[in-house]
Amino acid sequence: MDGVNSIEININHYRNFFISDNNNKSTKMRSEILIKISVSILIMNILLSNLILTSYFIDSSIQTQSDNKILDKFSNFESPKSLNDPPYESDHLSNYTLSVKLHEENATVEGNLTVDYYNDDLVSFNRIPFHIYPSGMNFTQKSGNITIYEVKTIGESQTFLDFQVISSEHLMWINLTEPLNPTERISFYIHFNTTLPDGGIDRSNYHGTDEGFSKIFKFAVAYPMPAVYDDKDGWNIDPYLQTGDPFYSDMAWYDFFIEVPIDPELPDFIVAATGELMESVTDSDSTIYHYETHLPVRELTFSASRYFICESILANNVNISTFFLPKSQNYWENFALDVAVQAVTLFNETFGAYFFPTLNIVESYTNYGGMEHPLQVYITESIYVYDDPLYYLELIIAHETCHQWFYHIIGNDEIDAGFLDEGLVVWATDYYFDKKYPERNLYDNYYLQYEIRHYYSIEQSPNKINQSVYECYTSGSDYWYIAYKKAPMILHKLRVFLGDEDFLSSIQLFFNRFKFKIAWLSDLEESFEYVYGKSLDWFFKPWFNNKFLPIYSITSGDYDTNSSVLNITIKDRNEEYNNYQYFQQLTLEIYDDKANTIFSNEIWINGTTFLSFNLTTIPDKVRLIFTDSVLAQSIPGTEYVEFVIPKRILNGMPFFSFFISMSFGIIFIIRKIRNKKK
Ligand SMILES: [Zn+2]
Repeated sequence: MDGVNSIEININHYRNFFISDNNNKSTKMRSEILIKISVSILIMNILLSNLILTSYFIDSSIQTQSDNKILDKFSNFESPKSLNDPPYESDHLSNYTLSVKLHEENATVEGNLTVDYYNDDLVSFNRIPFHIYPSGMNFTQKSGNITIYEVKTIGESQTFLDFQVISSEHLMWINLTEPLNPTERISFYIHFNTTLPDGGIDRSNYHGTDEGFSKIFKFAVAYPMPAVYDDKDGWNIDPYLQTGDPFYSDMAWYDFFIEVPIDPELPDFIVAATGELMESVTDSDSTIYHYETHLPVRELTFSASRYFICESILANNVNISTFFLPKSQNYWENFALDVAVQAVTLFNETFGAYFFPTLNIVESYTNYGGMEHPLQVYITESIYVYDDPLYYLELIIAHETCHQWFYHIIGNDEIDAGFLDEGLVVWATDYYFDKKYPERNLYDNYYLQYEIRHYYSIEQSPNKINQSVYECYTSGSDYWYIAYKKAPMILHKLRVFLGDEDFLSSIQLFFNRFKFKIAWLSDLEESFEYVYGKSLDWFFKPWFNNKFLPIYSITSGDYDTNSSVLNITIKDRNEEYNNYQYFQQLTLEIYDDKANTIFSNEIWINGTTFLSFNLTTIPDKVRLIFTDSVLAQSIPGTEYVEFVIPKRILNGMPFFSFFISMSFGIIFIIRKIRNKKK
C-alpha cells in the first residue's frame, strides 16, 4: 500500500511541477527530494553491505603485496576506503529532477530541469554554466537546438533569474542574484524545449519510419547539463566538439520523469531510460514513467520507440535489458542480452562491483559504433554492414558496457583526457574477448602492437597520448589513434611488465579510490605505483608523453678476438625529438657466420645503450628483435633491426684499419718507385 501512495505522490509531483505552476510545489518538491534521498541512502547501504566481501578481498590482496614493497614516497598514500562508507558525501552533491514530455509530431522534447545546486568548490560563483549540446548538433538533415523559456528560483518568493544563451558555444549561463559561496546551495528550475536533430547520425535524434517499424526517438546529452568546475580549468565550458566524446560531468542525485503520447492507431511507446522504473501512470493521452537511479549518476538519457522489442534478465543483481528493432531481431535476440550479462559479470569480477540496479543496451541510429551514458548505452543499428555482424555487435556491447566502470562510475574530463576512459575500455574489451574466446590467442602477435609500430611509417604524424582534443587539433595528432589504439596498447605493455596479478590489483585499487569521483592519468599511475611499490615514472612519462616511438639502430659493433669481447652501441634515433627516454626490454640475438644463434636473451634498452658480450665464437651479426609488447617504430614485415659486425683480416686488426694501412703502404711504395725513376 505504501507503494501506491508513493506512486501518487511522485506522479502528482511531476504533474504539479511540469504542467501547472502552483506556489506550494517547491516546498513539496524539496520534502520529496529529502524523502527520496533518505530512501536512496537506505537502499544504497543495503546494496553496499552486500559488497563488503569483495572489498575485503581486494584490500587484503593489495596490502599483502604492498607490505614489503612500499617506499617512503607512498607511506601516506590513502588506503582504499571500506565500501561500508559511501564513496561520496551525499549532502555534498547537487540534486536534479528532470521532467520531460515527448512531442512526437514535431520531434521535440519539452522539459523542466529542477536544480538544487551545491557549491562543492572553494570559490564563489556569480553565475553557473550549463551545456546545451543539441545546439551543436547542426550537421544533420535537421539541426538540433535547445530553446530556454525561463529560469526561476524555487522557494518562498519565486523570482526569474537572468540567463544568457550563447548558441554558438552550445552554452547557457545563469546569473545568480547573489554570490553562491562554498558549501551553499541554490534552487531553481530551467524550462526548456529540445528539438531533436534528424539524420540518424548524432547522439540525439529521431529517425526511421512508422511504416518500416523503425522509428526511434533518442534523447541524450539533450537537456541543459551542468558544467564541471575544477582546479585545472575553472569552468569546463567546452562546446559540443566533433572529436571524441566531449563530455565531463560530476556525480549528482537525479530523478527522472518521462511523458510519452498515446496514439490509438499505433503501438504504445516502449521507453528505455536511465534508472529503475518505479511507477507509471497512463491516462487517455499519455503515459508518465518515473525512474530512479538509487545512487548518484552523471547524467540522464532516454530512448523511445513504438517498435522496440525488449528482453530482460536479472543477473549479478542488475536488471539488464536490451531494446532493439524488429529488423535487427535476427542479430539481437538472446545474443545481445547474453553478451551484456557476460560483460557485466567479467567487469564486476575484474574491476569492482557495478552498483546500479539497471543497465540498458539500446539499439539506435548513430554515425559510430556505440555511445555510453550512465546505466544506458546505445549501439548502432547498422552492424549488418560489417563482414561479421555478430562479432561487431559483441564488440560494441562489451565496449559500451565497460564504460559504466570507466567514464561513469569513475569519471574523467573527456576533452582533456579522453584517452583515459577509452584506453581502459578498449584494453578491457580485448581482455573480455581473450577470456571468452581463449582459443583465439588474441595476445599472441597482438594486433595493436603492429598498428602502433607501423603507424608513423603510414601516417607520418606525432602520436603523444597525453593531450587534449584541442592539442590534437594543433599538433596534428589523430585522437582516434591515441585514445583507441595507442593508449590500450600501452596498458597492455604495462600488464606484460607487471604481470596479471599486480596489473589487475592496481586497476581494482584505482576503481576503489576513484569510484563516483573524477580521475586523471596521474591517479591511475599512482594506483599502479602503490601496488608495484616503486615509482613508474620511467614507464608513464615516455609512453604517455612522447610524440614519437623509439627508432632503434645498432650504430656500432666491434669484436676483439684477443679478449673475445663484442661491444655494440644501440641508439634511439628519435631520442632528441622526445622529452623522455624510453626504457624497455627487447630480445637481442647474436649469430655466427653460419647463422647459428650464439647468444639470445632479453635485455633492457635504456635510451642509447652500450653493451658488451664475452663470446668464444666469432660473431657475424647482431639482431634486436621487437618481440611481443615491444614498441618501436618499424615498417610492416621488418620487426627487428640488425647489424653486420665488421670482419678483422689480421688477428686483432679490424678490416677498416687493415684497408687503411694497406692503402698507405701501396702509396708509399709507388712514390718510392717514382722517386727512383726521377
Ligand atoms: Zn568508448
